[in-house]
Amino acid sequence: MARKKENSFQQGLLPHKKEVKLLFLSKILNEYEDLRQILIRHGSISQDVFDTLPVDKQKFLRSSIRAILTQAENEWFIVDDEYEDLGEDWDIKPLPIHCDLCGEKLRYKHCIQNKFSDKKIIVGGTCVKGRFTTLDGKSADKVQEEQSRLRRRVYLEGKFEGIVDAVNNGDRIFDSLKLMVPDSIKQPYYQAEKSLVERYERYIAGKENDIDELQAAWVRFNSTRSLVIDYDQKNKGKQWKATLKIEKDLRGQGKDDVIELLHQEECEIIPLTLYRIEETTFLKSLIPLWNSYLADIGIKIDRLHEALPSYIFSHKKMSSLTLQISHKVMGLNFGNLLFDGQSLEELTAQNVVMNSTLYQTPQSLRLVMQAIRSYVRLLGLEVEGVYEDIQRIVFYDKKNFEYVQTDLHLLAERNAPIALYRDEGLKALKKYLKGDNVVTLTHDELEKQKEAAWGFKESQRLDRRR
Ligand SMILES: [Zn+2]
Repeated sequence: MARKKENSFQQGLLPHKKEVKLLFLSKILNEYEDLRQILIRHGSISQDVFDTLPVDKQKFLRSSIRAILTQAENEWFIVDDEYEDLGEDWDIKPLPIHCDLCGEKLRYKHCIQNKFSDKKIIVGGTCVKGRFTTLDGKSADKVQEEQSRLRRRVYLEGKFEGIVDAVNNGDRIFDSLKLMVPDSIKQPYYQAEKSLVERYERYIAGKENDIDELQAAWVRFNSTRSLVIDYDQKNKGKQWKATLKIEKDLRGQGKDDVIELLHQEECEIIPLTLYRIEETTFLKSLIPLWNSYLADIGIKIDRLHEALPSYIFSHKKMSSLTLQISHKVMGLNFGNLLFDGQSLEELTAQNVVMNSTLYQTPQSLRLVMQAIRSYVRLLGLEVEGVYEDIQRIVFYDKKNFEYVQTDLHLLAERNAPIALYRDEGLKALKKYLKGDNVVTLTHDELEKQKEAAWGFKESQRLDRRR
């Protein structure tokens, strides 16, 4: 037992000088008057002092002093923004700063504050590490790292205005533009940005103290950025420069090959890319242009049907008939005209109409059905019946003594041109009636079908389209 007593100090049972200092500054000491009196009397507790104490005091110290010290430490927290690195020459400064606990000269100056008294003291790295944290639990090392990064950031921002934003939001520049930017301008920007970010990070992390390279990277970055902005400014009024909206739309549709083609042409739209672009703002902007060509052949595009997308138009010969032609077909067949070239198909009203389908309005539907009913006999067919309630039409084939049945709306949709061009329309109708959307029935089958009351299920079976 005696030996144990002698080792009390070495075992860490007794407080060091700096711990005693902390105790005197902490509220907890007020709760242990005996301890306070001992500390006041002796300044600190050396082994010799300890040995002179009554047994009960020794016992108390041995069992409680560490817990009391821990409580004292817990009264204090690090104040982040009062941290300071006093610099390389900390040791030779004329007015050095000392740790309030151990008295040593400081390079890394931390400030800790008491939760109860709000008192602040200055402590060095040795005394703060492993003992104190910030209110939100950050270690002294973390505070040191964060504060040094923060200071370097502030310093750089003061020197190169806008650099912090450039490093953090460099990519966003493209979102603020109207146009899609060609790779020839975009890639140098990205490279300059990457190199700037790397050098910036190295400096902020303290891995590099020289700013010459960073400054060069900043200059390069700004010149590539100017090129990006200038491109947008100079070209944003031009019809054939691909917009950012177009680029996003193409990306959304997975048309990366079109994006690639655009980049090859410095983002200039050419016939090869025109018909594959479906972005609606752009397509709407084309309508007046299309109409300037279509006016000569009596066709007028009224508006864009966004779903397909297609152009809804009419011909002056039958202005209540509304037709639609998909942008893809229009662009592919006639797109060259917009670039003052030779179109793939000659621009005639018939060629446009024959590439079109019905845009279903009751009146248009009626016009097309009228034409089909009156011309169908030229194909050796006559209308057996129209069954509106189940959307079917049945023709009788006089030559083959059989019935052909198809969906009413599909028939009208696919054969709309017949209303304007009888002969071409009939050719198309003939083809349609041999296709997949038609069912051939014998007389018996037709009768049976009628008997079955054309129930819903039956109609589903017969309709191969759905
Ligand atoms: Zn210290």
